[in-house]
Amino acid sequence: MSDYRYLQEQDIPSFLAALRALGNRVLVPTLQKGTKESVVFTPWQEGDPVLVAKATVPAKAAVLPSCETLVTYKKTKNPDNYAETSLTLTETVEAEPTVVFASRPCDAKGIAILDNPYTKGIYKDPYYMAKREKLVVISLTCNSGCETCFCHWVGGGPSSPEGSDILMTEIPAEGTKAYVLQPITAKGKEMLAKSALKDGESVVALMNEARKAAFATLSPKPDLTEAPQKVAACFANLSFWAQETERCISCGACTYFCPTCYCFTITDEGEPTSAQGGRRLRSWDTCMSSLFTREASGHNPRPSKAERMRNRVSHKFATYPENWGIFSCSGCGRCISQCPVGLDIRKIVLHAIAEAGGTVHPPKQEEAKPAKAAPVQAPKLEEVKPAKAAPAPKEDRAEARAEGKQTPSANDTEPARSPAPRRTAKKRGFIKTSLKKSGTRRR
Ligand code: SF4
Ligand code: SF4
Repeated sequence: MSDYRYLQEQDIPSFLAALRALGNRVLVPTLQKGTKESVVFTPWQEGDPVLVAKATVPAKAAVLPSCETLVTYKKTKNPDNYAETSLTLTETVEAEPTVVFASRPCDAKGIAILDNPYTKGIYKDPYYMAKREKLVVISLTCNSGCETCFCHWVGGGPSSPEGSDILMTEIPAEGTKAYVLQPITAKGKEMLAKSALKDGESVVALMNEARKAAFATLSPKPDLTEAPQKVAACFANLSFWAQETERCISCGACTYFCPTCYCFTITDEGEPTSAQGGRRLRSWDTCMSSLFTREASGHNPRPSKAERMRNRVSHKFATYPENWGIFSCSGCGRCISQCPVGLDIRKIVLHAIAEAGGTVHPPKQEEAKPAKAAPVQAPKLEEVKPAKAAPAPKEDRAEARAEGKQTPSANDTEPARSPAPRRTAKKRGFIKTSLKKSGTRRR
């Protein structure tokens, strides 16, 4: 028997039930009650409908909950001396075995991007790591690109394996929908080997065809090799960022919907059941809010929305690549589709490259090659390496940072409206063409 498995649509509930019987919490995309199109990952149980639509909110909460308890504390007074109080701290590292079913490759890549700061830096986050170790990600490869997604610009694709343990691809089948499941990691291989699913080797050729067809739907991509240097070079050009951010209303949706954003805040909360106990919480926060960086003194190092957008885009396309060698963006497009004023991070990055005198040469359509199906042997998680973005030369970045010290004063809460950056018609021309050619198919 090969490592591939075959799954028909009508057998998905029994497959999920078997995963639950093994002790897993199974998170599936679910249409939120009272909404027409808001799809979120929720725990599945027998009898629940199964939806494989791209979720509105990524599966990030499986490893980084929107709010989690870090420690609980209890204060106890000495009954013989009320001036004496002792404090007991209890760390609450909670993790249950979890399977994310039918996320998309861009969501899974988002988790791979989160892995770097949370598990590979100087400080490792025990809360994140506990959840990550017990997580299995089954990603449904996309049948086509869509209007707002651009995974192939940032080293991904509709069937990219980064962050997934199993890739699931829809193949043509008579009278039903059917899928091939391909193990990517040892965890995925073990999960499929334990399943009762049929061998999928005979339909691997159909899987490869489906992936190839999906790749062919993607629009030509610009070359972002220079993006880290060029975005960093725009750092001190605050009028550029002011121009790009003019319509922003600082709502933070672009960060809350993003699979790769990981800013958080820490708050303490007294327990309602006890006047002497409480808990310390970690909750998602957004660097697009003016409160995110405001210090206790009242000083705010990022007082204007232009500075906050500069930070967000520079982190994703310059600083993170400098530290980890890849963009901190999986190209999922949610920040574009969810932005209430229609700001588009693709345009901002392309404008930054043009502003800094760079070029983006789009390759011909036929150069866009489908990702090769991975060999049947399941690689270890750490063996699946995302494509690298060229990091900016250190001297350029240091220079940009040094120039960036000339930020506005704390009182300059909104930047003065500046004239449009002088970009040439030629530079803008490509940007328009590139974005226009994006497909309009929905997934
Ligand atoms: S979603 Fe749009 S308006 Fe809201 S903070 Fe992000 S860029 Fe600004
Ligand atoms: S920055 Fe936007 S496109 Fe990139 S991963 Fe985040 S939400 Fe998706």
